[in-house]
Amino acid sequence: MQRRFNPLEADARWQAIWDDKQSFRADDASEKPRSYVLEMFPYPSGRIHIGHVRNYSMGDVLARFRRMTGHEVLHPMGWDAFGMPAENAAMEKKVHPGNWTRDNIANMRAQLKKLGFAIDWSRELATCEPDYYGHEQALFLDMLEAGLVYRKESAVNWDPVDMTVLANEQVIDGKGWRSGAPVEKRKLSQWFLKITQFGDDLLDGLKSLDQWPDKVRTMQENWIGRSKGLQFHFKPVAPFDTQIEVYSTRPDTIFGASFVAIAADHPVAQAVAAGNGEAADFIALCKAGGTTAAELETAEKLGFDTGLTVTHPFDPEWQLPVFIANFVLMDYGTGAVMGVPAHDQRDLDFARKYMLPVERVVAAEGDESAPIHNEAYSAPGRLVNSRFLDGMTVEEAKAEVIARAEAEGWGTGTTVFRLRDWGVSRQRYWGTPIPVIHCADCGPVPVPKAQLPVVLPEDVTFDIPGNPLDRHPTWKHVDCPSCGKAAVRETDTLDTFADSSWYFIRFASQPKDKPFDRETVEKWLPVGQYIGGVEHAILHLLYARFWTRALQHMGQLGFAEPFTGLFTQGMVTHETYTVRRPPTEQEREHFGWYPPGDDGIIEWRSPDQVVRTDGGLFDRETGLKVKVGRVEKMSKSKKNVVDPDDIIAQYGADAVRWFMLSDSPPERDLPWTESGIEGSWRFVNRLWRLFGQIEAGAEGQDKPLDRKLHQTIDGIAKDIEALSFNKAVAKIYELANAVEKAAPSASRNAAIRALALLVAPMTPHLAEEAWADMGETGLIADAAWPVVDPALLVDDEVTIACQVMGKLRDTITVAKGTAKDELERLALAAPNVVRILDGAAPKKIIVVPDRLVNIVI
Ligand SMILES: [Zn+2]
Repeated sequence: MQRRFNPLEADARWQAIWDDKQSFRADDASEKPRSYVLEMFPYPSGRIHIGHVRNYSMGDVLARFRRMTGHEVLHPMGWDAFGMPAENAAMEKKVHPGNWTRDNIANMRAQLKKLGFAIDWSRELATCEPDYYGHEQALFLDMLEAGLVYRKESAVNWDPVDMTVLANEQVIDGKGWRSGAPVEKRKLSQWFLKITQFGDDLLDGLKSLDQWPDKVRTMQENWIGRSKGLQFHFKPVAPFDTQIEVYSTRPDTIFGASFVAIAADHPVAQAVAAGNGEAADFIALCKAGGTTAAELETAEKLGFDTGLTVTHPFDPEWQLPVFIANFVLMDYGTGAVMGVPAHDQRDLDFARKYMLPVERVVAAEGDESAPIHNEAYSAPGRLVNSRFLDGMTVEEAKAEVIARAEAEGWGTGTTVFRLRDWGVSRQRYWGTPIPVIHCADCGPVPVPKAQLPVVLPEDVTFDIPGNPLDRHPTWKHVDCPSCGKAAVRETDTLDTFADSSWYFIRFASQPKDKPFDRETVEKWLPVGQYIGGVEHAILHLLYARFWTRALQHMGQLGFAEPFTGLFTQGMVTHETYTVRRPPTEQEREHFGWYPPGDDGIIEWRSPDQVVRTDGGLFDRETGLKVKVGRVEKMSKSKKNVVDPDDIIAQYGADAVRWFMLSDSPPERDLPWTESGIEGSWRFVNRLWRLFGQIEAGAEGQDKPLDRKLHQTIDGIAKDIEALSFNKAVAKIYELANAVEKAAPSASRNAAIRALALLVAPMTPHLAEEAWADMGETGLIADAAWPVVDPALLVDDEVTIACQVMGKLRDTITVAKGTAKDELERLALAAPNVVRILDGAAPKKIIVVPDRLVNIVI
């Protein structure tokens, strides 16, 4: 009878057994070596998407493998549950953010359980619950006490329609992403975490993270952006009387300076604007633009010539014009820069636009007089056109300029960071309330720890824009903990990046009365393997590294780096499908089809709206021809999305997991294809049939198969440790082929049994089913990884080609390293060689040990 694996029945049965036995519960008290495997926890948007499935399948293979190799494994799951989408849903669908979020969590938990992940669900947490964020409030207060939190006025993007502060990412072309209203810059008092205090350490710590992708370390390095340069001032030329402070990372290029640019908020710009309407208009224009680095990079460089001049620090006769420019920010450094067009692209663009001089001062050998056209020169070289610096390298010239500036008293060598302190105030409802009370007499007063958590009130409405906490009738009105007078609560909530900056610590230890127990945390952390998307490579990882350092700084933890190993997996992609929009009723009536000249508006189609025939792809509903587009990241707008629920229902969890691990290297994108998932499903069934082929009476050893098996066990273990899942999968295919071809023997039976253990991390339901079917006791999830016999890892036999006059006539199998004369003797005795020689005496015999014997007659 054809054996067929029935995942719809088996998956749920094994999942219930694992749940019941609490198979994946991590024991804090275990004596085994520990392994903490963590995937970035999801935002509860409502549905698990296929990218999650890929991410969690990878972590799951490692977690299950580590259990099989004798580790106590912590593999938890939780929910990054605060954030704006819940508030948007509340406004659009009139549901409470809390209900929306908790319903989504329930749905997604059920989806994850269907995939059979080896998760310790007893440690599940959601950041939107007081038993999580209450402890975060305690940590915030600790940081406040330790001087790592401060409050200052800061410019924010204010959406005048939604009456809310927008993150830079929410400002698109100077307009609010939801309202479309022009965004205003406003000053608000905000809370900041002092991440810059750890700037050097965050940067230097990257060197120790040798199990992180280089690209992620580089991204962090660039974000932190430490540079050594010169802070100095330009002296004003009368009647102008204010000196302008600038900072330059390239003081070596000081003789290439041709202008000074200041921010719109710079006091000098403000002073100019007070008496000049045009300048005031220009400043207003600057303020309407975005403030992100990307926006500044791409926006057209605009300037306003103030008519003021300053003198060059090395030459009192040399005057430079002062421009107000849209690409200089007051919050950054001194709010003024020295423009060196030949060696900075932005300055060059600006200089060309305003016809300012461009003089090369650094050149590669032989290029000293090469003109600068449209590309600034930023490569190394030696100084030219720079008086006393001529001939020096860039580094030497930097040091020389800094030394002279310090000696002459007009500048100082300084290290600066691109990194800014972390503004954590959000004028939103669905977040962790900042545990502070504002008193008219005492100022901001921390909420006493005994009064934590400051619980987010759930009785709020979203019928009008703005923060519902501000207009809640009772919540914010409290007595000052210090003087007892009437006071108000802080209504800002914490940036949700704060929630994800320590969840991995709370997973390891969850006491009720404090954020964590140090001893228990230090048993598990740092996280040995962290897996997630590269889109979190900068902010999330940086904030988590900062938060861990802050805890170390306050004496609460004994380590600085939270994640020893990091892996960033590729995306799951899919073909895109488009059709021309079908003609409307009226168009059919009027024109019979599309109106003449209509070049066709296209619409996206989802894979299940498309029918495949030999003649091509057609739209199921209209019969229109479907155009196949590029393979792209799955997105709702392009409808190229595959719903994990549908495919699990069709193929079962194991085929889906298998497909997620096969085909592409895990760091690359994985194109989803029907044929791919079908191939996985067929292989699951092939394995299932193979598992039924243990023959009780089979005897005898099959040495090549034994060797293949042990090489495979060894190879897969190494592949899984290296997260090279596709390579492990390829080895399983090979082994399955070899077992299928082998004749019954004790070796073959052993190989089939071992194969079940080898696939257990990848296709756990199938493996459990096979294990039980083979009559094994206990769960395969608890079984040990097969032991490798090192003697079987080396190929100890070789096949020798026996040639006569260079032509292959026969082969012999001998022990590796067989001596030359023995090879000669065996080759001459090989039946086909004997036949060809037919009694002739060899003139010469050439032997290549372990390879061939060639007989010349
Ligand atoms: Zn007070």
